[in-house]
Amino acid sequence: MLSRTDGSGRIYSEQLPEVTAQMGKEILYSLANNESGQLIKAEAAQRSGIYFCLSCNGEMISRRGARVRPHFAHKNISPNCSPETALHYGFKKFLHERISKSLGSGEQIAIHWKCGYCSGSHDGNLLKRAVNVEEEYGLGLCRPDIALIGKEGNVVAVIEVVVSHSPEESTLEYYKAKSIPFISFILISDEDLARADADIMSPDVVDVCYNPECPECDRNMPRLNLLVFDGTCSKCFSPMKIAALRGDAGYEDISAFTDSHIALAVKHGASIETIYKTARSGYRYSFKVNTCKICNAFIGRDELWVDYVRVAYQDGYPITELDGGYYCPVCGQ
Ligand SMILES: [Zn+2]
Ligand SMILES: [Zn+2]
Ligand SMILES: [Zn+2]
Ligand SMILES: [Zn+2]
Repeated sequence: MLSRTDGSGRIYSEQLPEVTAQMGKEILYSLANNESGQLIKAEAAQRSGIYFCLSCNGEMISRRGARVRPHFAHKNISPNCSPETALHYGFKKFLHERISKSLGSGEQIAIHWKCGYCSGSHDGNLLKRAVNVEEEYGLGLCRPDIALIGKEGNVVAVIEVVVSHSPEESTLEYYKAKSIPFISFILISDEDLARADADIMSPDVVDVCYNPECPECDRNMPRLNLLVFDGTCSKCFSPMKIAALRGDAGYEDISAFTDSHIALAVKHGASIETIYKTARSGYRYSFKVNTCKICNAFIGRDELWVDYVRVAYQDGYPITELDGGYYCPVCGQ
């Protein structure tokens, strides 16, 4: 992990460009309480029903129109009420209900996130170490929206729901100092309510990285995937297995196949040979390339990406992804 001082602020500002760009999108009141205090979604509301605002408790009516999605509106003007507050409250309520139910039945909640440390992505189970869940839990200076509680009564993770802005840096620092994993959902529209129901939840921030650190720069390294898929030799048109390395942080050109990559690729039917070249300066260098077993033609580095890997992804070829270890995009390790 990055050091504390180096950590939160910078990572967060790097992580949130899309969110910032979309701010200002209109938020509608898409949830309200009915007369018996149950949360009702606007799609399920009855035209003549009586509803109450989640934020100010004022009376609301159901609205449907051709141009706008179903929502609620205050019956009387409510100048101090905001749809952001109602969305925050509604999402938190939904998520809390879902977590309680899953804990009760022993189910997992799968999460997938883009990692601010290694720039790759991770999968996990939100409830891994949790046996209980609390809303608005008092935790020192903070009151996280949702706290997941472990067997010993300790806080094993906190979840913050924020609407239209990033989490406060002081809050992040606090959790970091206490080594409590921090998870955040950043909502920009009432349509984000659906994210509380998703089979695999995608929080915007998860302050956890599983990957090892680079021995040179101490940053967490993204995974390296060895791809193997079917292709055709561009010289003799024989079918051949193609191997390529793809970094989890993007489609970087990871230049060198190591011996273990080659062994793995060969096991899956590819053929990788070493090519020697001499530069104009007279300097001799070598690189490792996919080679056709029939005619010995090789696939150059650019060709591999442009004519093979990209095409395989675009056309949806079956691609076998094998564990190629880790790499450092900063040091090129
Ligand atoms: Zn209100
Ligand atoms: Zn990571
Ligand atoms: Zn490094
Ligand atoms: Zn060939």
